[in-house]
Amino acid sequence: MTEKPASDQSPSDHFLLELLVDGIPDPVFCKDREGRFIRVNAAFAEMVGFPQQDCIGKTDADLWGDEVSRQLIENDQEVLRTGVPILNKEEELLNSNGGPMWLLISNMPMRDSQGELIGTYGIAREITEKKLAEIELRESEARIRLLIKHAPDACVTLDCDEGRFIDANPLAEELFKMSREQIVQCHPADLSPPFQPGNVPTPELANEMIETALSGKRMVFDWVHCDSAGKPFPCEVRLVPLPHGERRLLQATIADITARKTAEAELTGARDSLREANRELRRARDIAEEASRVKNDFLANVSHEIRTPMNAIIGMTDLVLGTNLDAVQRDYVQTVADSAESLMSLLDQVLDFSRIESGTLDLDIADLDVREVIGATLSSLSVKAHSRHVELTWHVDALVPRWLAGDAVRVRQILMNLVGNGIKFTEYGEVFVDVQLDERDATGVKLLFSVRDNGIGISPDKLESIFSAFGQADTSSTRRYGGTGLGLAISSRLVHAMDGELWVESSVGEGSAFFFTIYMQPATPQVIHELPDLRHLEVLVADNDAESCRQIADQLKHHGVSCAIFESATSVLKALKESALRRLPVLICNPEMNGMAGFELIELIRADETLSRVPTILLVSNMRNEDIQRCKKLGIAAQLFKPVKPNELVNVLSAMTTHEDSGATPNEEWGSGLSKKTFQAGQAMRPLHILLVEDGKANQTMAVGLLTKWGHRVDVAEDGSQAVEAYRKKSFDVILMDVQLPMMDGLEATRQIRELEAESRQRVPIIAMTAHAMEGDRQRCLAAGMDDYVSKPVRKPELYRALGAFGDDRSDVANNI
Ligand code: ADP
Repeated sequence: MTEKPASDQSPSDHFLLELLVDGIPDPVFCKDREGRFIRVNAAFAEMVGFPQQDCIGKTDADLWGDEVSRQLIENDQEVLRTGVPILNKEEELLNSNGGPMWLLISNMPMRDSQGELIGTYGIAREITEKKLAEIELRESEARIRLLIKHAPDACVTLDCDEGRFIDANPLAEELFKMSREQIVQCHPADLSPPFQPGNVPTPELANEMIETALSGKRMVFDWVHCDSAGKPFPCEVRLVPLPHGERRLLQATIADITARKTAEAELTGARDSLREANRELRRARDIAEEASRVKNDFLANVSHEIRTPMNAIIGMTDLVLGTNLDAVQRDYVQTVADSAESLMSLLDQVLDFSRIESGTLDLDIADLDVREVIGATLSSLSVKAHSRHVELTWHVDALVPRWLAGDAVRVRQILMNLVGNGIKFTEYGEVFVDVQLDERDATGVKLLFSVRDNGIGISPDKLESIFSAFGQADTSSTRRYGGTGLGLAISSRLVHAMDGELWVESSVGEGSAFFFTIYMQPATPQVIHELPDLRHLEVLVADNDAESCRQIADQLKHHGVSCAIFESATSVLKALKESALRRLPVLICNPEMNGMAGFELIELIRADETLSRVPTILLVSNMRNEDIQRCKKLGIAAQLFKPVKPNELVNVLSAMTTHEDSGATPNEEWGSGLSKKTFQAGQAMRPLHILLVEDGKANQTMAVGLLTKWGHRVDVAEDGSQAVEAYRKKSFDVILMDVQLPMMDGLEATRQIRELEAESRQRVPIIAMTAHAMEGDRQRCLAAGMDDYVSKPVRKPELYRALGAFGDDRSDVANNI
């Protein structure tokens, strides 16, 4: 079989042409000279939305309408007229849905074989999508331009590919002092100094920023630009990528931050100087603290060094005063003793003040009886008051609770100072202490104290300065009245520590009134002791001093005692006779009374059959020897010293009740009803075997002299190890232990003795006797195992009481181990 020649199998030209025309995806068309379609391909038919066949014979006007087709017809006619093709002309038509459609049309002349123009043919390409994108881009460009133009900050648009700005708003023109036309020629680096802060080259940094912003990261950074004159200025730049087709655009917002930078610089400067000031302050504080520590150490040392010889001086003068001296010698030695005492009180005040100043004042809050505190304070000042012919009286308002919690020692210290001053600056007059309840709430009470005198007064220009340290109203008075000028400074700091105020009102020649307030908390419930029942008692108080009567009556009111007050002896006598018909009252009577002297009155009472057994208490300011004899003779049950302390008054009356109940006559056994718990000075003490641990020769002699005078036997150890040795060998009733000792100090010796005792199950009382009088010394001694603490210079009564507490009943102590 012979193969058919290839040419025979090839499709015809016509077939190929048809295939080509219909297969082309772009619309293809042929029109006659009248513009009627004579041939369209499938793509054309699809574009116009008619079947291919239906297009034949139709014109552009038939397909698109007159309006839209006008340009197409004009194109055809131009080609037919000129014979020149129109290539790739953009035309806007309507698509089959009536929407806009853009075509790129090429229109060519169609000739017959003779070259006659018989029509046109062409090909179209739809470019609608591209066209819409272009429109969208133009619109967005316009929008952006508008936004930039009206932006509140300077704005520029950067074309990252061209590497220059392509737009700038009026504020940018203002900022750079350039026209928009000038700006749009520039790269960011052209509008900046060559280097940015930190010596970074501007172009590199700018490109880095641009690239980061283009990656989509929001960029806000500080930059230094410069204006057309090359003047640099700091600014804050924000870069935001702009969606703009293919183009990589960034919008930059530029804010001039010169003002902020200046403020920041000022702030940094201020902060630096503040830091420097703080450093200075810290340095100053450290120096001050160090100075204060050194001062405290110095004070502690000075205090110790002064106390040690003072101990010997006071003790020795005391011993000398106990020997036979003639009047002149006694006077000399007494002067030494008085001067030593006042030196000690000065030392105490200076120490106290320095302690308070250095902020180491701690209040010791415990339950207290305000009336008792005042009473005890005034009692201790009564001798001094009497010597200056000053009457001391006091009154606590009935609303002031009996029990409160506060620092009794410090309240007493304030009162001692104010009342002491009152006495010191008054001659022939009165000092009156009054306490009122100022405020009260659940957390406590505020008490208002006043201390009035009718002494010399204070001039108005000195009313403030007297509260400062060493401030005295009249320095010439120092010689006359003595004093350091520290008392009020200490008092006002103490009052402040108790959340109160201290102030004064005064007129020269008329007297002064010092006021202070302090806060006190409620007492713990357990403290509200059972009070002795005195309700059955009837008391008559006779005194020509109405204030003192009122004070006693107020105190008794607390105990439910009915009390009548009299100022003259005759009225007392009358009242006594009347009440004696019911029951014998108790008479509290001042020997100095209006009309008749108190003793005469008592003589009359004792002479009266019905009244002779009236229990009588004498109210006195001082006691002379002959008065004591007279009291005994008249069977006077007790003496109460003015101003009367509430506890004393109650003790005396309750003791009297006991006697009444036991049937004993009050004058026979007076005093036996008083509490025996507290060891009173003067009460006999059994002879003790005492170990005195003391290295100072003078102090040894003084202490041995004093203790043997009291009937005790004394062994002496000169240091801690000797003390421990002595303890091993002998048994002692009490050890008096100095703290600062050679070889082994008193604290260590105490510890060792306590350890030895642990084996023997016996305990010897150890009393510290030391010149370490600073805050905390007492605690250190007790912590080392001592039982009590007596500071040097040793005061006889203090030592006596301390010894008495242990020497009185040793079995108690031993049993308490
Ligand atoms: P001192 O009494 O030791 O000098 P104070 O600080 O207690 O120190 O008192 C300071 C000064 O205030 C006194 O020196 C005195 O001038 C004046 N002063 C204090 N209380 C009274 C008073 N009751 N009457 C007159 N002057 C007083």
